[in-house]
Amino acid sequence: MIKALFLMLFLAGPLGASETAEEVFGSHEGASPGSSRAIGGYTYGCLAGGRMLEANGPGWQVMRLSRNRYWGHELLIDVVRDLAAGIKQAGHAGILVGDLSQPRGGPMHKAHRSHQMGLDGDIWFKPAPDHEMSAKARENISAVSMLKDASFDTDPNLFGAREQLMLELAARDERVERIFVHPGIKKAMCAVKGEARDNAWMGKIRPWYGHHYHFHIRLSCPPGDQLCKPQAPVPAGIGCGEALAWWMGPEPYAPKPDAKPKKKPRKPLLREYPASCQLIARD
Ligand SMILES: [Zn+2]
Repeated sequence: MIKALFLMLFLAGPLGASETAEEVFGSHEGASPGSSRAIGGYTYGCLAGGRMLEANGPGWQVMRLSRNRYWGHELLIDVVRDLAAGIKQAGHAGILVGDLSQPRGGPMHKAHRSHQMGLDGDIWFKPAPDHEMSAKARENISAVSMLKDASFDTDPNLFGAREQLMLELAARDERVERIFVHPGIKKAMCAVKGEARDNAWMGKIRPWYGHHYHFHIRLSCPPGDQLCKPQAPVPAGIGCGEALAWWMGPEPYAPKPDAKPKKKPRKPLLREYPASCQLIARD
């Protein structure tokens, strides 16, 4: 009898062993103390010492304030501020900032596989208005696709010099490792900058699914953040040739012939996260 009880306790595990990472990380209102550190991987990690991006600043306004996803590694906050300043300096009202990370990073409810270490951020293509928006407007205003009728062509009335400049400024930033955009947006950038001199930064602009309402900035693992697992570097070249042509064909969008019916992905448990992340989440 006692043996059976012990066995039951053993199988149930310690308290909280079955919590999903999403529920614990999502429960925090504020960051953990100390300097910023990215821990784990882009899709499996967390953020120590997160910094908050203020709702308004010179050249930016944060959208969807209720989500509390305006946190990031201090380097990411600096990158967003610098991008905003650059856009303002060029004579535009500014940028609209979408999701960065939760205060302590980790997975988010119903959104993004990445954005977990405070090194990823979404910037809307739609320009900021010249007035400060109300909190309600920031919840309700929709992002705008840059594509003409869901094609691979950008709408020149929407995707113009300002949007190209946002991508160029972000890609020229040494702290930025890669930027995800829709293949049609990459195509438009290749048309404008493909022949330009000094365009090595174009290689950082990577075609990917979605990303025609916003672009996604990803920073490299910050120097000194030893628990941050880097990704493979972006391939050499500006990425306007064959690799982009592949994205224009049917292959990336065709179901795989041997595909099994899609199962809902399992939510990872907190105890499957790196030990440092478990501490930060439980603190
Ligand atoms: Zn994103």
